[in-house]
Amino acid sequence: MESHKYLSIEEKIEEARALYAAWSDRLCSDERVRDLLVRMEERIKASMGAMRALRVVQACKWCEEQEGGSCCGAGIENRYDPLQLLINLLLNASLPDRRKYPDSCYFLETDGCCLEARHVLCVNYLCKRLEESLAGEELEALQTIVGEELDTGFALHEAVRKGLGRRSGDG
Ligand code: SF4
Ligand code: SF4
Repeated sequence: MESHKYLSIEEKIEEARALYAAWSDRLCSDERVRDLLVRMEERIKASMGAMRALRVVQACKWCEEQEGGSCCGAGIENRYDPLQLLINLLLNASLPDRRKYPDSCYFLETDGCCLEARHVLCVNYLCKRLEESLAGEELEALQTIVGEELDTGFALHEAVRKGLGRRSGDG
C-alpha cells in the first residue's frame, strides 16, 4: 500500500472519500465501530463543552478574528492520515475541497475547525497565556476530559483499521 506520508492533503481527502464510499456501510454495521462512534461523539461534545465553559474556544476565536490568526497554522493538516479523515466522515464532518485561508490549516473554516475527531496536537494544545489563565483544578479537569476524547479516538482508529482489514501502522 502507498504510504500516506507522500500524499498531499487533497489526495488524502480523496482516499478518505473513496474508503467511505466503499466501506461505510460495512463499518457502521460493525458493533464495536458503531459503539465507539457514539462514544466519540459524546466525548467530543464533553471536551467542547468544557473548553467553552473555560473560555478556551472564545480566546482562540479572538486570536483568529482580532489578532491576525490562531494557532491553526498552515501545514498542521499534514499530520492527518486518510484513516483519521475517514473517521471524520463517519462522524458526519464535511471535508473542504480547498483551503480557505492561505496561511492557515487546510481544515480551518469561517466558523473554526471543520473536523470532529482532531489530532492529539490540536486537542491537547493550550498556549502559555491560556494555561496561566486557568486554575490548577480547571486545567486538571480539562486534561481529564480531553484525555477521554483522545483514548476513545485511539480505540476508534484501531477498530476502523481492523474493520478495513489493515495491519497496525497502516494509515
Ligand atoms: S491557543 Fe492561545 S494563542 Fe493559540 S489561538 Fe488559542 S488563545 Fe490564541
Ligand atoms: S484544530 Fe482543526 S483547523 Fe486547527 S490546526 Fe487542528 S485540524 Fe487544523
